[in-house]
Amino acid sequence: MTTAIYTHDDCLKHETPPGHPERVARLEAVLEILEAPRFAALEWHDCPKAARSELLRVHPEAHVAAVEQAVAAARGGTVAIDGDTHVMAGSLDAALRAAGGCVAAVEAVITGKAQNAFIAARPPGHHAEKTTAMGFCLFGNVSIAAKNALDEHGLSRVAIMDFDVHHGNGTQDLLWDETRCLFISTHQSPLYPGTGGVHETGADNNVMNVPLPPGAGSEAFRRAMEAEVLPALDDFAPELVLISAGFDAHRADPLAQMELTEKDFAWATHRLCDIADAHAGGRVVSTLEGGYDLEALAASVAAHVEVLMERGAK
Ligand SMILES: [Zn+2]
Repeated sequence: MTTAIYTHDDCLKHETPPGHPERVARLEAVLEILEAPRFAALEWHDCPKAARSELLRVHPEAHVAAVEQAVAAARGGTVAIDGDTHVMAGSLDAALRAAGGCVAAVEAVITGKAQNAFIAARPPGHHAEKTTAMGFCLFGNVSIAAKNALDEHGLSRVAIMDFDVHHGNGTQDLLWDETRCLFISTHQSPLYPGTGGVHETGADNNVMNVPLPPGAGSEAFRRAMEAEVLPALDDFAPELVLISAGFDAHRADPLAQMELTEKDFAWATHRLCDIADAHAGGRVVSTLEGGYDLEALAASVAAHVEVLMERGAK
């Protein structure tokens, strides 16, 4: 079996204002490292655009229309949806590719065309709420993929693990009432967006938040994974494991202070593959969220994808 990579040139055409951390160079750095000879066994695919019906599984029509209108209003310039989140002419296609890549990767893994997959796309998605684009995110990519697995492919239990250093408030909002999903987020607290307390547990204990203090480091992260995250995933027995793979918990990242290294991301990926092996036939789909130091981002993605390849080849 193989590891599939989903990406698209359109994701390089979503430009942000000068100095913005979520920039084109992030994806360029990720693609450059994944094109190295040691990754030659990866199977590359273009992200299709998400269909409107797929977006509407988690967002109301008004949100999709609002994003479209903001992009249309940008014309040759940029429109700020909020202080962090900007769109320009290329943003809609990029966002549709990022969401559509997640949907296609889930389909490839469920139908056995790949063992696991990584979506190298942007803009990220885990901060996008039902009616609010925010935190660099326009559509809830991973939630859209989860809904597709449930509604189109007949799965009944999908887990989403979000180890981005920021709380996945969007995924939590989109899947709050979706008891066929278990959403777990480890994140630094306090930090943007300010949500993700332990008392936010979803409609029926289908959301688990594991806030960690600034400076937590490898040991605290791994302890939290082993004591809380992995047992909850094991109990849930998911038929598919989705990962919101943000790498901004890296110690070199300028936006946070979780102080992890790429070794921690490799370790976490192994443990999530263990859960997938035990319950989900090894099916893992991981999508890029944050990660803003280019060198650390590339090294972390490389460590993450190497584990996916190693585990997928078994
Ligand atoms: Zn983040």
